[in-house]
Amino acid sequence: MSKQVHQGHRARKRFGQNFLTDEAVISQIVASINPQPGENLVEIGPGLAALTEPVARMAGKLNVVELDRDLAERLSVHPTLGQFLEVHQGDALEFDFSTLVREDKALRVFGNLPYNISTPLIFHLLGFADKVQDMHFMLQKEVVLRMSAQANTKAYGRLTVMTQVRCEVTPVLQVPPESFTPAPKVDSAVVRLAPYSQLPYAINNLETLDRVCREAFNQRRKTIRNSLRNLLDEEQLESLGLVLTARAENLSIQQFCDIANYLDEHQL
Ligand code: SAM
Repeated sequence: MSKQVHQGHRARKRFGQNFLTDEAVISQIVASINPQPGENLVEIGPGLAALTEPVARMAGKLNVVELDRDLAERLSVHPTLGQFLEVHQGDALEFDFSTLVREDKALRVFGNLPYNISTPLIFHLLGFADKVQDMHFMLQKEVVLRMSAQANTKAYGRLTVMTQVRCEVTPVLQVPPESFTPAPKVDSAVVRLAPYSQLPYAINNLETLDRVCREAFNQRRKTIRNSLRNLLDEEQLESLGLVLTARAENLSIQQFCDIANYLDEHQL
């Protein structure tokens, strides 16, 4: 049988379908999630249920959001699993995750994400961080490196700042291409994100922070004197204690927050 066909389903490239087939990796991910009965679990992209099945066995009911109609239908009518699943057929990028909060139970989100949309999907999910207990995601390894990066490194960028300002980021394990069918062209890694109940940074408005990060990292090789000139002049940057010849990757998360707070306070 072709490597593109798994459990009678032809993998659809446009939906980023790389199915997990490595039992050891599946066990390690499920152990890290450690699902408990009564928790409010939500899976993005359940596919052929490699993670769904063991999680349902441990936790009972869970919500799943799947874009592929055939796979969503297959899960709904699944002889043993179907009764445990609330299947939402649709695009996770458009999905309002706040509708799944029940009896004040925060969400525990997980998924082996379609890599073609993983960054926008993470930004979408970070928008619901106050309703989320934690998230476990399989991602391209490079994306996990960006999320967990330190300042003064190449991997440090908008995704780093916008993730770390809201979440504790813990890389969980690295996964080689052979653990999937079909095998992706890149290495993968699992990361756990745990939103802070109280943000460890002084920040007034996360949207403004995102605006600053976009400006700064869109031209990351430039000094902040140049990359941020549309937002602040040299005097204003210096009043914040910033070195004009620094580059975006040299600023700490709190320094990005200070710039955003300055813009808000001065209505800039
Ligand atoms: N969880 C399965 C596994 O680990 O074997 C499948 C993972 S596969 C990498 C990604 C899954 O996300 C596929 O089932 C795909 O159909 C689904 N998917 C792709 N785009 C999606 C979207 N925008 N919203 C929800 N699900 C999506």
